[in-house]
Amino acid sequence: MSGGGERGYASATGSGSESRPRDDIDRRRRTSPPPGWRRPSRRRVRAIRDRLRELYGRRRNDPHGDPVHELVLTILSQNTSDGNRDVAYRRLRDRFASWAAIRDAPAEEVIEAIRPGGLANTKGPRIQAVLAELGDEADLDWLRTAPREEAVGYLTSLPGVGRKTAACVMIFALDRPEVPVDTHVHRVGGRLGLFPPAISLEGAHDEMLAITDRGDAYELHMNLIEHGRRICRPRPRCGECALARMCVALRAGLVEPAA
Ligand code: SF4
Repeated sequence: MSGGGERGYASATGSGSESRPRDDIDRRRRTSPPPGWRRPSRRRVRAIRDRLRELYGRRRNDPHGDPVHELVLTILSQNTSDGNRDVAYRRLRDRFASWAAIRDAPAEEVIEAIRPGGLANTKGPRIQAVLAELGDEADLDWLRTAPREEAVGYLTSLPGVGRKTAACVMIFALDRPEVPVDTHVHRVGGRLGLFPPAISLEGAHDEMLAITDRGDAYELHMNLIEHGRRICRPRPRCGECALARMCVALRAGLVEPAA
Protein backbone atom coordinates (compact mmCIF):
# COMPACT_ATOMS: atom_id res chain seq x y z
CA MET A 1 0.00 0.00 0.00
CA SER A 2 1.27 3.44 -0.69
CA GLY A 3 1.78 5.68 2.23
CA GLY A 4 -0.94 7.75 3.69
CA GLY A 5 -2.00 9.95 6.50
CA GLU A 6 -4.07 8.85 9.41
CA ARG A 7 -7.54 8.01 8.29
CA GLY A 8 -10.45 8.47 10.57
CA TYR A 9 -13.71 7.60 8.96
CA ALA A 10 -15.77 4.80 10.36
CA SER A 11 -15.99 1.80 8.17
CA ALA A 12 -16.86 -1.06 10.47
CA THR A 13 -20.37 -0.03 11.20
CA GLY A 14 -21.93 0.08 7.81
CA SER A 15 -21.34 3.79 7.71
CA GLY A 16 -20.43 3.94 4.06
CA SER A 17 -22.75 6.35 2.40
CA GLU A 18 -22.56 4.11 -0.61
CA SER A 19 -23.81 0.99 1.14
CA ARG A 20 -27.33 0.12 0.24
CA PRO A 21 -28.88 0.17 3.72
CA ARG A 22 -27.52 3.65 4.36
CA ASP A 23 -28.73 4.83 0.95
CA ASP A 24 -32.19 3.61 1.78
CA ILE A 25 -32.18 5.50 5.07
CA ASP A 26 -30.58 8.52 3.50
CA ARG A 27 -33.16 8.90 0.77
CA ARG A 28 -35.77 9.59 3.44
CA ARG A 29 -33.71 12.42 4.88
CA ARG A 30 -33.51 15.99 3.72
CA THR A 31 -30.58 16.96 1.53
CA SER A 32 -30.94 20.62 2.52
CA PRO A 33 -31.58 22.23 5.91
CA PRO A 34 -35.23 22.67 6.92
CA PRO A 35 -36.79 26.14 6.75
CA GLY A 36 -35.75 28.27 9.69
CA TRP A 37 -32.51 26.38 10.27
CA ARG A 38 -29.62 28.70 11.03
CA ARG A 39 -26.11 27.62 10.28
CA PRO A 40 -23.72 27.90 13.21
CA SER A 41 -21.39 30.86 13.00
CA ARG A 42 -17.74 30.36 12.12
CA ARG A 43 -16.98 31.54 15.62
CA ARG A 44 -19.02 28.73 17.11
CA VAL A 45 -17.48 26.16 14.78
CA ARG A 46 -14.00 27.36 15.78
CA ALA A 47 -14.96 27.11 19.45
CA ILE A 48 -15.98 23.48 18.92
CA ARG A 49 -12.77 22.88 16.98
CA ASP A 50 -10.73 24.35 19.81
CA ARG A 51 -12.44 22.29 22.49
CA LEU A 52 -11.92 19.11 20.48
CA ARG A 53 -8.30 20.11 19.91
CA GLU A 54 -7.79 20.40 23.66
CA LEU A 55 -9.10 16.87 24.02
CA TYR A 56 -7.57 15.07 21.07
CA GLY A 57 -4.80 17.25 19.74
CA ARG A 58 -4.27 19.07 16.50
CA ARG A 59 -4.31 16.50 13.73
CA ARG A 60 -2.25 17.15 10.64
CA ASN A 61 -3.06 15.61 7.31
CA ASP A 62 -0.36 13.62 5.54
CA PRO A 63 -1.80 13.18 2.04
CA HIS A 64 -0.32 10.23 0.19
CA GLY A 65 -0.89 11.68 -3.27
CA ASP A 66 -2.48 8.64 -4.93
CA PRO A 67 -6.18 9.20 -5.66
CA VAL A 68 -6.72 5.85 -7.40
CA HIS A 69 -5.33 4.04 -4.38
CA GLU A 70 -7.67 6.00 -2.13
CA LEU A 71 -10.65 5.34 -4.37
CA VAL A 72 -10.12 1.58 -4.35
CA LEU A 73 -9.27 1.52 -0.64
CA THR A 74 -12.44 3.43 0.23
CA ILE A 75 -14.59 1.07 -1.80
CA LEU A 76 -12.99 -1.80 0.07
CA SER A 77 -13.63 -0.07 3.41
CA GLN A 78 -17.40 -0.23 3.14
CA ASN A 79 -18.97 -2.34 5.86
CA THR A 80 -15.78 -3.81 7.21
CA SER A 81 -13.01 -3.10 9.69
CA ASP A 82 -9.91 -1.16 8.74
CA GLY A 83 -7.84 -4.30 9.31
CA ASN A 84 -9.89 -6.44 6.93
CA ARG A 85 -9.91 -3.61 4.39
CA ASP A 86 -6.14 -3.43 4.47
CA VAL A 87 -5.75 -7.19 4.07
CA ALA A 88 -8.08 -7.13 1.07
CA TYR A 89 -6.21 -4.22 -0.49
CA ARG A 90 -2.83 -5.84 0.02
CA ARG A 91 -4.01 -9.11 -1.51
CA LEU A 92 -5.45 -7.25 -4.48
CA ARG A 93 -2.23 -5.36 -5.18
CA ASP A 94 -0.06 -8.42 -4.63
CA ARG A 95 -2.06 -10.58 -6.98
CA PHE A 96 -2.29 -8.13 -9.88
CA ALA A 97 0.54 -6.13 -11.40
CA SER A 98 -1.42 -3.00 -12.30
CA TRP A 99 -4.79 -1.31 -12.15
CA ALA A 100 -5.37 -2.40 -15.73
CA ALA A 101 -4.69 -6.02 -14.75
CA ILE A 102 -7.34 -5.77 -12.03
CA ARG A 103 -9.77 -4.20 -14.45
CA ASP A 104 -9.28 -6.92 -17.07
CA ALA A 105 -9.11 -9.92 -14.75
CA PRO A 106 -11.94 -12.43 -14.51
CA ALA A 107 -14.35 -11.14 -11.90
CA GLU A 108 -13.97 -14.27 -9.78
CA GLU A 109 -10.23 -13.66 -9.38
CA VAL A 110 -10.76 -10.13 -8.10
CA ILE A 111 -13.53 -11.32 -5.80
CA GLU A 112 -11.31 -14.04 -4.43
CA ALA A 113 -8.46 -11.59 -3.83
CA ILE A 114 -10.57 -9.18 -1.80
CA ARG A 115 -12.69 -11.76 0.01
CA PRO A 116 -11.21 -10.96 3.49
CA GLY A 117 -12.70 -7.46 3.16
CA GLY A 118 -16.28 -8.72 3.03
CA LEU A 119 -19.00 -8.05 0.45
CA ALA A 120 -16.51 -9.20 -2.17
CA ASN A 121 -19.22 -10.03 -4.70
CA THR A 122 -20.30 -6.39 -4.63
CA LYS A 123 -16.97 -4.66 -4.18
CA GLY A 124 -15.06 -6.66 -6.81
CA PRO A 125 -17.31 -5.74 -9.75
CA ARG A 126 -17.55 -2.19 -8.40
CA ILE A 127 -13.79 -1.77 -8.37
CA GLN A 128 -13.54 -3.20 -11.88
CA ALA A 129 -16.32 -0.90 -13.10
CA VAL A 130 -14.59 2.14 -11.62
CA LEU A 131 -11.25 1.16 -13.15
CA ALA A 132 -12.95 0.64 -16.50
CA GLU A 133 -14.25 4.20 -16.29
CA LEU A 134 -10.78 5.52 -15.51
CA GLY A 135 -9.37 4.09 -18.76
CA ASP A 136 -5.94 2.65 -19.54
CA GLU A 137 -3.96 5.31 -17.70
CA ALA A 138 -6.09 5.25 -14.51
CA ASP A 139 -4.76 8.74 -13.90
CA LEU A 140 -6.60 11.01 -11.51
CA ASP A 141 -3.81 13.49 -10.89
CA TRP A 142 -5.85 16.17 -12.64
CA LEU A 143 -8.05 16.22 -9.53
CA ARG A 144 -5.29 18.15 -7.75
CA THR A 145 -5.99 21.33 -9.63
CA ALA A 146 -9.49 20.88 -11.04
CA PRO A 147 -12.25 23.13 -9.70
CA ARG A 148 -13.78 21.43 -6.68
CA GLU A 149 -17.23 20.98 -8.21
CA GLU A 150 -15.71 19.40 -11.29
CA ALA A 151 -13.55 17.06 -9.25
CA VAL A 152 -16.31 15.94 -6.88
CA GLY A 153 -18.79 15.76 -9.76
CA TYR A 154 -16.48 13.45 -11.67
CA LEU A 155 -15.79 11.19 -8.71
CA THR A 156 -19.46 10.86 -7.81
CA SER A 157 -20.27 10.02 -11.43
CA LEU A 158 -18.20 6.84 -11.11
CA PRO A 159 -20.17 3.65 -10.46
CA GLY A 160 -21.04 3.24 -6.79
CA VAL A 161 -19.05 6.28 -5.67
CA GLY A 162 -20.85 8.67 -3.34
CA ARG A 163 -19.98 11.83 -1.49
CA LYS A 164 -18.07 10.19 1.33
CA THR A 165 -15.79 8.27 -1.00
CA ALA A 166 -15.25 11.38 -3.11
CA ALA A 167 -14.44 13.40 0.02
CA CYS A 168 -11.97 10.73 1.20
CA VAL A 169 -10.16 10.80 -2.14
CA MET A 170 -9.98 14.58 -2.09
CA ILE A 171 -8.66 15.00 1.41
CA PHE A 172 -6.65 11.86 2.18
CA ALA A 173 -4.95 11.66 -1.21
CA LEU A 174 -4.76 15.30 -2.24
CA ASP A 175 -5.26 17.42 0.88
CA ARG A 176 -8.14 19.21 -0.77
CA PRO A 177 -10.49 20.47 1.95
CA GLU A 178 -13.44 18.14 2.47
CA VAL A 179 -14.98 16.78 5.64
CA PRO A 180 -16.01 13.18 4.97
CA VAL A 181 -19.21 12.55 6.89
CA ASP A 182 -19.36 9.05 8.27
CA THR A 183 -21.63 7.69 10.95
CA HIS A 184 -19.64 9.34 13.77
CA VAL A 185 -19.38 12.77 12.16
CA HIS A 186 -23.07 12.60 11.30
CA ARG A 187 -24.09 11.71 14.84
CA VAL A 188 -21.77 14.08 16.73
CA GLY A 189 -22.10 16.97 14.30
CA GLY A 190 -25.86 16.73 14.40
CA ARG A 191 -25.92 16.72 18.20
CA LEU A 192 -23.60 19.72 18.36
CA GLY A 193 -25.79 21.61 15.91
CA LEU A 194 -23.25 21.79 13.09
CA PHE A 195 -26.06 20.71 10.77
CA PRO A 196 -29.65 19.56 11.34
CA PRO A 197 -29.52 16.10 12.92
CA ALA A 198 -32.02 14.63 10.46
CA ILE A 199 -30.21 15.82 7.37
CA SER A 200 -28.93 13.29 4.86
CA LEU A 201 -25.26 12.41 4.69
CA GLU A 202 -25.10 14.26 1.39
CA GLY A 203 -26.64 17.35 2.96
CA ALA A 204 -24.28 17.08 5.91
CA HIS A 205 -21.31 17.11 3.51
CA ASP A 206 -22.55 20.37 2.03
CA GLU A 207 -23.13 21.91 5.45
CA MET A 208 -19.74 20.89 6.81
CA LEU A 209 -18.04 22.34 3.76
CA ALA A 210 -19.97 25.58 4.21
CA ILE A 211 -19.02 26.08 7.87
CA THR A 212 -15.45 24.74 7.99
CA ASP A 213 -12.34 26.81 7.45
CA ARG A 214 -10.23 25.14 4.74
CA GLY A 215 -7.33 24.48 7.05
CA ASP A 216 -9.56 22.85 9.66
CA ALA A 217 -11.24 20.23 7.48
CA TYR A 218 -8.98 17.29 8.30
CA GLU A 219 -8.68 18.13 11.98
CA LEU A 220 -12.41 18.56 12.43
CA HIS A 221 -13.14 15.31 10.62
CA MET A 222 -10.67 13.35 12.72
CA ASN A 223 -11.61 14.87 16.06
CA LEU A 224 -15.36 14.56 15.57
CA ILE A 225 -14.78 10.88 14.87
CA GLU A 226 -12.60 10.53 17.94
CA HIS A 227 -15.24 12.16 20.09
CA GLY A 228 -17.86 9.89 18.57
CA ARG A 229 -15.83 6.82 19.36
CA ARG A 230 -14.92 7.76 22.91
CA ILE A 231 -17.69 9.92 24.36
CA CYS A 232 -20.51 10.86 22.02
CA ARG A 233 -21.44 7.30 21.27
CA PRO A 234 -24.88 6.28 20.10
CA ARG A 235 -25.66 6.17 23.84
CA PRO A 236 -23.67 9.29 24.75
CA ARG A 237 -21.58 9.76 27.89
CA CYS A 238 -22.71 13.34 28.40
CA GLY A 239 -21.62 13.40 32.04
CA GLU A 240 -18.01 13.08 30.90
CA CYS A 241 -18.32 15.35 27.88
CA ALA A 242 -16.22 18.50 27.71
CA LEU A 243 -18.53 19.86 25.04
CA ALA A 244 -21.71 19.49 27.07
CA ARG A 245 -22.19 23.23 27.45
CA MET A 246 -22.01 23.62 23.68
CA CYS A 247 -24.34 20.76 22.90
CA VAL A 248 -27.61 21.62 21.20
CA ALA A 249 -29.07 18.13 21.56
CA LEU A 250 -28.33 17.88 25.29
CA ARG A 251 -29.80 21.31 25.95
CA ALA A 252 -32.93 20.39 24.03
CA GLY A 253 -33.28 17.04 25.77
CA LEU A 254 -32.89 15.16 22.51
CA VAL A 255 -30.37 12.62 23.77
CA GLU A 256 -30.59 9.99 26.41
CA PRO A 257 -27.20 9.95 28.13
CA ALA A 258 -25.70 6.71 29.31
CA ALA A 259 -26.00 6.22 33.04
S1 SF4 B 1 -23.11 16.44 25.58
FE1 SF4 B 1 -23.65 14.32 25.07
S2 SF4 B 1 -24.71 14.39 23.11
FE2 SF4 B 1 -23.64 16.36 23.39
S3 SF4 B 1 -21.67 16.11 22.35
FE3 SF4 B 1 -21.34 15.57 24.50
S4 SF4 B 1 -21.68 13.33 24.60
FE4 SF4 B 1 -22.54 14.07 22.66
